[in-house]
Amino acid sequence: EPTADAPYLRGLNAPQREAVLTTEGPVLMLAGAGTGKTAALTARLAHIIATRKAWPSQILAVTFTNKAAREMKERVSAISGGAIEGMPWLGTFHSVAAKMLRAHAELAGLQSNFTILDTDDQLRLLKQLIVASNLDEKRWPARQFAGVIDRWKNRGWTPAHIDAAESEAFANGRGQELYAAYQDRLRALNACDFGDLLLHMLTILKAHPDVLESYRERFRYILVDEYQDTNASQYEWLRLLAEPRQNICVVGDDDQSIYSWRGAEVANILRFEKDFPGAAVIRLEQNYRSTPHILGAATGLIANNAGRLGKTLWTERNEGDRVRVIGVWDGPEEARRVGEEIEAHQARGGSLDDCAILVRAQFQTREFEERFIAIGLAYQIVGGFRFYERAEIRDALAYLRLVAQPADDLAFERIINTPKRGLGDKAVANIHKFARATDQPLLLAAAQMLDSDELTPQARRSLGRFVADVARWRTMAGEIPHPELARILLDESGYTAALQNERSAEATGRLENLTELTRAMEEYETLGAFLEHVSLVMDNDQAKQGEKVTIMTIHAAKGLEFPNVFLAGWEEGVFPSQRALDEGGLASLEEERRLAYVALTRARAKAIIIHAANRRIYGQWTSSIPSRFVSELPKEHIDEETTMSGGESMWRAQWSERGDPFAHLAAAQSDRASTRGAGWQRAQGRFNAQPQRIIEARASAVSLGNKGRDDLSVGQRVFHGKFGYGTIAEIEGNKLEIEFEKAGRKRVLDSFVSTSN
Ligand code: ATP
Ligand code: MG
Repeated sequence: EPTADAPYLRGLNAPQREAVLTTEGPVLMLAGAGTGKTAALTARLAHIIATRKAWPSQILAVTFTNKAAREMKERVSAISGGAIEGMPWLGTFHSVAAKMLRAHAELAGLQSNFTILDTDDQLRLLKQLIVASNLDEKRWPARQFAGVIDRWKNRGWTPAHIDAAESEAFANGRGQELYAAYQDRLRALNACDFGDLLLHMLTILKAHPDVLESYRERFRYILVDEYQDTNASQYEWLRLLAEPRQNICVVGDDDQSIYSWRGAEVANILRFEKDFPGAAVIRLEQNYRSTPHILGAATGLIANNAGRLGKTLWTERNEGDRVRVIGVWDGPEEARRVGEEIEAHQARGGSLDDCAILVRAQFQTREFEERFIAIGLAYQIVGGFRFYERAEIRDALAYLRLVAQPADDLAFERIINTPKRGLGDKAVANIHKFARATDQPLLLAAAQMLDSDELTPQARRSLGRFVADVARWRTMAGEIPHPELARILLDESGYTAALQNERSAEATGRLENLTELTRAMEEYETLGAFLEHVSLVMDNDQAKQGEKVTIMTIHAAKGLEFPNVFLAGWEEGVFPSQRALDEGGLASLEEERRLAYVALTRARAKAIIIHAANRRIYGQWTSSIPSRFVSELPKEHIDEETTMSGGESMWRAQWSERGDPFAHLAAAQSDRASTRGAGWQRAQGRFNAQPQRIIEARASAVSLGNKGRDDLSVGQRVFHGKFGYGTIAEIEGNKLEIEFEKAGRKRVLDSFVSTSN
């Protein structure tokens, strides 16, 4: 039996000890942020192992992220003096389920070496199926279907579970049929998607009592962290495994449930006591993480949500600073202020590792990145790419680069078929071949191939459109502001529409990033200056080692803590997000509020909330209003700073004018829409007036480099890779009319023929 001074018990409070020592029977640890739930769960793991109640291989421990799993492994081996030879069943739901499924793959119709598809593979496969089912992929995008399938799998539904009503979720009632076809296809490929890992395992456990029995025998103890974010299928899986012994300990906080958009069901935590009668319910109330002001502010905020279990939180920690709420003039000033605060922290001898900036949406990171690069502050983006490295940003930049510099072949390659315009690998290989043979950039080579038979008629049509588009954008480039050009180019290329069609949360984020990109462009005089800036920023290889500021979304910060936390962009439309406001439901607003609670409770010593009075959107200064969450913070725990470095009088004037804050927001939005409309129409008008210039631009592109070969003559017999043998009937520069022996008369480019003997 452990003594009270077993190393893993040292320092734990009474309820935490209870959670550690109550090893038998169901245990629910329900407690607020920072109360030591994860710490207690880790100690429990160490205790079970130290007292030999089970071998490490007989414990199933589930965390929410791989990072959390690693941390728990480290904590357990530190607590137990490194005596742990590894915890094979400690990991995320996905990693544990994958490991199980490998052992029983044949029961799911797979081989044990099955591959796990990434999102790209999955989308490609779904698209093939959609097209093969004679559906219009534009109307029924693969990404939307991926979302539907994910939702079904999160609920533990195989195709057999999908009834007619559910089937309506995709392609006018063909959802079930397509889902079944997708699952068949995956099996044929010996592959799984992420959702399958758990779904297959669940199906196997239900259909094969012997398998279920072997796992029930194996897992003497089950531990689950962040239980409030489990979905229905995870819940069912845990329940099946835990049923006979009931040695299951789950920990969570209903106030921190922030993944309902991914199928998480907070109800799982609420019904635990029903499903496991006699469960010991342990409440932790002492918070060890944050100062009283931070805790008070967070508690006051979350009290605005209805339907909570409700918790008391207290701390013994000393007063500390109040939560600072700083109003700044605009986005750049927000980044500047945060930079200054962090530098001041450094000057006091503090480490950059102490500092984290938490944002609601990915697009918010850019302003900080640029500022930190400018002042040489090392930073990392956790759980995401740096702004200019994101796929959609690189695509947009490739369009701009090609317009600025038609010889930019890398840019051409990146976007020639993005969005999809029917120019597959074959067509691109052909353009490459011709460009190499004639030693010219891809875009110019492409322009010359338009009236040859080198490409299929369909490829020629879309290539023709593309070449004409680029020529038109080049003409516009000198005449309209470059942010406007970027928007037009993203619209007219079909890039924006393709994202809008996806109708997924991810696509919304990408569209936001693109808006942010055009916003960034406004700060530069010319397109060239902007592109130059980007290449310098992208090249900036920040110190990979050493201390650095962390920038991440609130979602990624769950379970973590930092001494200094900066909470950026607390404005209506940013946080709560525009999407939550548009949906309008209480549920989405409450989930935003839980996010705000998670954000605030990451802070140990200092929490700084920032809101900007203005955000520059589409070249227009749009005033924004502070998040409703700011006004929900109890006054006694915050210090508001309303001094501005610039434009204070204007700021105040704007503020006093504000009556109904939402009317204001709506006005700003319609403003934004009309600005865009007018600019677009202007550009369109110019375009319509200029067909001649476009034709000229194309002609001049074509006239470049069409010298022709001097080893060819009319009447000569030549060989062409696609059309076979033929005789030259006419030569016009580098274009040949050839009477092919099998294919008939064709117009081809001379670099595609070889002389035959
Ligand atoms: P979250 O809800 O954010 O996941 P949590 O409840 O899991 O929080 P932990 O991360 O386990 O909380 O603990 C928060 C902080 O309090 C950590 O720094 C941890 O080391 C510390 N802590 C936990 N228990 C105690 C204790 N009994 N005495 C002193 N410090 C403690
Ligand atoms: Mg935790």
